[in-house]
Amino acid sequence: MSKFWSRFVNDLVPYVPGEQPKVARLVKLNTNESPYGPSPKAIAAMQAELTDDLRLYPDPSGDRLRQSVARYYGIEANEVFVGNGSDEVLAHAFQGLFQHEAPLLFPDISYSFYPVYCGLYGIDYEAIPLDESFAIRASDYARANGGIIFPNPNAPTGRLLALEVVEEILAASPDSVVLVDEAYIDFGGQSAISLIRRYPNLLVTQTLSKSRALAGLRVGFAVGHPDLIEALERIKNSFNSYPLDRVALAGAAAAFDDVDYFEQSCSKVIDSRGVLTRELEALGFDVLPSAANFVFASHPKRDAGALAASLREQGIIVRHFKQPRIAQHLRITVGTPEQNAALIEALRGL
Ligand SMILES: *Cc1c(COP(=O)(O)O)cnc(C)c1O
Repeated sequence: MSKFWSRFVNDLVPYVPGEQPKVARLVKLNTNESPYGPSPKAIAAMQAELTDDLRLYPDPSGDRLRQSVARYYGIEANEVFVGNGSDEVLAHAFQGLFQHEAPLLFPDISYSFYPVYCGLYGIDYEAIPLDESFAIRASDYARANGGIIFPNPNAPTGRLLALEVVEEILAASPDSVVLVDEAYIDFGGQSAISLIRRYPNLLVTQTLSKSRALAGLRVGFAVGHPDLIEALERIKNSFNSYPLDRVALAGAAAAFDDVDYFEQSCSKVIDSRGVLTRELEALGFDVLPSAANFVFASHPKRDAGALAASLREQGIIVRHFKQPRIAQHLRITVGTPEQNAALIEALRGL
């Protein structure tokens, strides 16, 4: 603490991101980045932006990118909000849509940024336990609330909630915003974006960090009724009018337009996830069914923390959360076939 801090800063419990190691040559399976690069067309579009025009501010509303997202999903640009990573979009949603009397509801095992935003914005919340199979039970959310948020597929479990069940949750809370964080939806789920016209209380967020391999560019977006989008715009324009720079806007739009490349990368990851799951199971791991670009695995006889530490010594990093209920699990990002093989080889030797 310092006497110069605003008082609340001392009470913040900030998010701890997965390690971004400074040493090269590691097999990095800890933060769910894509093992494949972004679309070559996105790279070319970003290179084309590196001109004297960088002296000019970017388009504050990111219209070209909003149109690309809208075209892809068959919706209107005024149903799309774009921001500096979906983390920033989520932050705006917490501040603009979740500050109410009743508590915000989210699963006890979920994206650990949610309680951090609650702390930052003074939002009361209740963590609802997942069932024994780490699944979200829709009926648990049918109660008084000031909003509901969950990732689908959930992180770090990878479990997917069927769209009918998402709809059940939406229908039971028509007077509060239900935010579906679809950071991993492209790896095997059906997006709830198809429901936004029927549910004005639905906000869906997505990111270009995972399935479009642009984690380093920082681009995310939200989709929903124009009234919800307007709340996010109002916050954004009271915070930072230009969250996305010229390079990011051009690269993200081109990545969205390159549907073939996107689909190919996703299917490669999905295929590798199947192989990785079978190989982990052959080594005695229990692996939850995953619809994401990672798997969540535990071994009945091996301590997860010790396994993660031993892998680290061999240059392979996976994510281990020292958290109740999941302290014996490892979250392993699906890498290239070669990276996955290196992981399996290392585990065999442990
Ligand atoms: C990765 C992730 C995000 C954040 O994505 P960015 O766009 O990189 O900020 C949001 N939610 C979940 C569940 C994630 O795993």
